[in-house]
Amino acid sequence: MSTNRFKALDESQKRQPQIVNYPSDKISDYYGKNVFNISTMRSYLTEEAFKSVKKAMLEGHRIERNIADQIATAMKDWAMSKKVTHYTHWFQPLTGSTAEKHDSFFKPIEDGRAIEQFEGSLLIQQEPDASSFPNGGIRNTFEARGYSAWDPTSPAFIMGRTLCIPTIFISYTGEALDYKAPLLKALDSVDKAATSVCQYFDKNITRVRATLGWEQEYFLVDTALFKARPDLIMSGRALVGHSPAKGQQLDDHYFGSIPARATAFMQDFENESYLLGIPVMTRHNEVAPNQFECAPMFEEADIAVDHNLLLMDLLDKVAARHHFKVLLHEKPFAGLNGSGKHNNWSLGTNTKVNLLQPGKNPKTNLRFLTFLVNTIKGIHDYADVLRSSIASASNDHRLGGHEAPPAIMSIFIGSQLTEMLNKIEKSIKAGKMTPEDKTSLKLDIGKIPQIMLDNTDRNRTSPFAFTGNKFEFRAVGSTANCSQAMIAINTIMAKQLKTFKKAVDARIEKGDKKDEAILKELQDLIKASKKIRFEGNGYGDEWVKEAEKRGLSNFKDTPRALTPMKTKAYIDLFEGEGVLSKREIEARHEIELEGYTLKIQIEARILGDLCQTYIIPAVIRYQTELLDNVRGLQDVLGSTEAKKAGKVQLEIIKEISEHLAIIKTNVDEMVEARKKANTIEDTEEKAYAYCDDVKPYLEDIRYHSDKLEQLIDDSYWPLPKLRELLFTV
Ligand code: ADP
Ligand code: MG
Repeated sequence: MSTNRFKALDESQKRQPQIVNYPSDKISDYYGKNVFNISTMRSYLTEEAFKSVKKAMLEGHRIERNIADQIATAMKDWAMSKKVTHYTHWFQPLTGSTAEKHDSFFKPIEDGRAIEQFEGSLLIQQEPDASSFPNGGIRNTFEARGYSAWDPTSPAFIMGRTLCIPTIFISYTGEALDYKAPLLKALDSVDKAATSVCQYFDKNITRVRATLGWEQEYFLVDTALFKARPDLIMSGRALVGHSPAKGQQLDDHYFGSIPARATAFMQDFENESYLLGIPVMTRHNEVAPNQFECAPMFEEADIAVDHNLLLMDLLDKVAARHHFKVLLHEKPFAGLNGSGKHNNWSLGTNTKVNLLQPGKNPKTNLRFLTFLVNTIKGIHDYADVLRSSIASASNDHRLGGHEAPPAIMSIFIGSQLTEMLNKIEKSIKAGKMTPEDKTSLKLDIGKIPQIMLDNTDRNRTSPFAFTGNKFEFRAVGSTANCSQAMIAINTIMAKQLKTFKKAVDARIEKGDKKDEAILKELQDLIKASKKIRFEGNGYGDEWVKEAEKRGLSNFKDTPRALTPMKTKAYIDLFEGEGVLSKREIEARHEIELEGYTLKIQIEARILGDLCQTYIIPAVIRYQTELLDNVRGLQDVLGSTEAKKAGKVQLEIIKEISEHLAIIKTNVDEMVEARKKANTIEDTEEKAYAYCDDVKPYLEDIRYHSDKLEQLIDDSYWPLPKLRELLFTV
């Protein structure tokens, strides 16, 4: 009898929704209250210091040391007015989560007294003695120093009783050890490139910011049940467990009424989000049981990334108060939908124009088409870069699983825009435009806003879809730091827009009028990028064949999806835009591969453990009971009659033995495969060994374990079943 499982079930069934304490009646009363934002700064800083920070925030200016001292003191005073005692540099190491090391404001002085102090130097730079963050060989132990440096573009905030100062994290020798430093560089690069293209259309555009609106999906599981599943604790996903009889086939969960316990949890974490200025706007049930989504209003990409990381942290912290565990894993439960994090991306100007929004006249629509077509061409040229940006052991389970975007990168723009691009492609013949061509094309381009309104045919199966005024990158995993996708997209865009600008300028120099030069260049780009556009069903097998014919890549697993990082094209792209150096790329490649290997290694270990110490013993106990029964029948009826009377028992005993034997052999072989893989020195080769030689055992073992789960007495099964994990909220 599995006491753990039943105790956990009991506990989970007794739960009541928690009462939510609202800081005030109106959200607007407490929105951003725990953020050292511009309006707070205005009241805490001198005019001089305020101007300096604002310039740093908006234009990336450096802050002088004496001003930094003033800002630090103001930050401390503000934080202390909210009972804060500690501060931390908050950064995004390459582990994928965030890191913090808390220091106290308080400092003992003479006579046994103490004061609170915070100097500009501590605000600007810290040296976390954290030599164990992943660094891909960049930091040798003799120079194991890393610096965190204040990023004034992202406001400081309060978590609990700690002041958190967003920072970048770099090595002693200047290489980035985080996601934020390259993200800021990519955003800077796309700003410059896009602004210069915008100059063709509007001289008032002096700044372009990439915008990001993420949608975070997650599962909720009761804490007691979670704790009874070592695999969930260790790897974030259920490594065994038969699909429940009722999964998502009735489509009754999506957008359904949210269970009261889950609603209370959501209200609670939303309140915490509002205090931190995270503009969470939407909540709803997702497709699978116990699966939910939340999404904010979009923001500038770097702020949106910070907010997503903060939200992931909040989800976890607040869930504990509601006796929930949040599963952010991309595929916690086989057979049910996985979780993603759609990245809605666009470019916005200082004049408050969304560059991917069709305009009101031919001129603004030409601008729209320019950015649309350049995005398509950029993704066409660097589809492999995009794919590598979302590769992870956990996302491998989701991509191409007939419920999530495939691992093949393609773009959907809808039938009407397709028609528009076809027109541009055809209406300029032999590189020349007649006056009639021009008029007719301008007329067509002028019609875009109307056609867009009718453009409701959304394609949910595309990994990169145009959705009316932005692109939605749907292949990003739910655990991911959005920076990786954002670094890729914005660097690609920067490079593409620069190339475009050069080409158009060259045409103008040769005598073309500006509009004509742009149109002709767009025509070339449309022709050259056709193969990346796909309007059909991205989940279908036909697409896999068609994509192969088109020469599109289909990297099915992480080690392979990361191979483009070794290519000249990849290195040239990131070095060319000043985003990542060759050394940084090599380090990142190494870190990704290591992370992959470790994740599979953990899964293999915990599954071996589950089999040996949970599943096999429980099954044997049940088998013993059956054997006792058969023996009893023999005692009473004699062996011939017992064979007849015990037919079912004997069959089950045999079937159980077969599955047990296979599990045991597989576990032993998996251990051997791991041992062999562990002797491999080369990081990439090792990752391949884990992918090709170790990982397949996980699936095989699961298959047989799930069969056993269906064979043995429910009361013997030692782990909460999927139907219990998924239907007890
Ligand atoms: P869904 O994909 O579920 O249909 P919506 O289309 O309503 O959702 O929007 C999804 C997300 O797109 C929201 O988080 C929203 O803030 C974001 N979004 C809207 N406009 C932009 C933009 N210009 N740039 C980036 N994200 C945007
Ligand atoms: Mg979406």
